[in-house]
Amino acid sequence: MKLDLNIAPLSSWMPASSEPLIISGPCSAETEEQLLSTAHLLKATGKISVLRAGIWKPRTRPGEFEGIGAEGLVWLNRAKQETGLPTAVEVATAKHVEMALKAGVDILWIGARSTVNPFTVQEIADALQGVDIPVMVKNPINPDLSLWIGALERINRAGITKLAAIHRGFSSYEKSAFRNEPMWDLAIALKTIAPNLPILNDPSHICGTRDLIGFISQKALDLDMQGLMIEAHIDPSVAWTDAKQQLTPAALSELIDTLTLRTPDSENSEFTNKLTEMRGSIDRIDDQIFQKLGERMSIVEKIGTYKRDNDVTILQVNRWDEILQKRTAIGEALKLDKDFIEKVLELIHSESIRKQTAIMNEEKTAVK
Ligand code: PEP
Ligand code: MN
Repeated sequence: MKLDLNIAPLSSWMPASSEPLIISGPCSAETEEQLLSTAHLLKATGKISVLRAGIWKPRTRPGEFEGIGAEGLVWLNRAKQETGLPTAVEVATAKHVEMALKAGVDILWIGARSTVNPFTVQEIADALQGVDIPVMVKNPINPDLSLWIGALERINRAGITKLAAIHRGFSSYEKSAFRNEPMWDLAIALKTIAPNLPILNDPSHICGTRDLIGFISQKALDLDMQGLMIEAHIDPSVAWTDAKQQLTPAALSELIDTLTLRTPDSENSEFTNKLTEMRGSIDRIDDQIFQKLGERMSIVEKIGTYKRDNDVTILQVNRWDEILQKRTAIGEALKLDKDFIEKVLELIHSESIRKQTAIMNEEKTAVK
């Protein structure tokens, strides 16, 4: 499946003042002084393209700081005038859209808690009808690709072509080092079905803690994501929201210096030739793998018929244990990761069982 989105190239609306493209600013606008001083220090790094600030904060529990509101839009506009940085804010209602547009905000984004709700996304889309402003859509809280796609489609159908996705990780029941599990596969799946849709990464909300931000940022760039949104605060230790994950502008600047930008393709023809040759080898090996899988499955089918005609169960645990042990030993000798071998074997085994179950449910063909 390919998504039918009408997308303007990122460079047409988000001119990167330096590489990689970085959007930064505080999680929340708190005071005029906090916002302006953060903005000036970020600008001084020379590495930031867009200033972000949360004006309305969707909080899980009532009574927590819910954003400074309209007053913050005035400060943000002042920061824009003084630094020359374009600005971005999160909108969650039609009223937010109206106020942000009136206040001269340059880019809007839809937060993870809004993307989960098609009513909210549609309300925002309706408010954007006929407006020419870039919109970035964060992934929903839960790992549901369709909700993310649906939100992008709703905004695109409202006529917004300056559109990008932001990968900020997904809520997971499992405890892990991350605040939100990256689940990179979902971002890669979105990239595969919408190749012209720019995808940025938000390592701050994935990590939830400062220490991991560099690692996730590099991984995002290695996966060819087009930019990063990283929270920065003049003094993170006293931040009113997301204190643990915000960086000082100086720390952010150092982090950006450690990042390596790798190009998906190279101008160098010797490199390109070598790469083409190696890719050719991979293609041939992949063909062989699938050919062999096909052969294996046709034997599996024969065994299925034989088991059915002799009234034998599909699964024989001893046999499966034997396969697992032998193949894992061979795989490890070939320097393949044990976890990887087990996953591959389990996939092959479950497909074999599926095929044999289908055969079991057919009529017997042979008389014993
Ligand atoms: C934010 O960017 O501050 C924010 C609330 O993010 P998310 O919607 O990803 O939780
Ligand atoms: Mn935040």
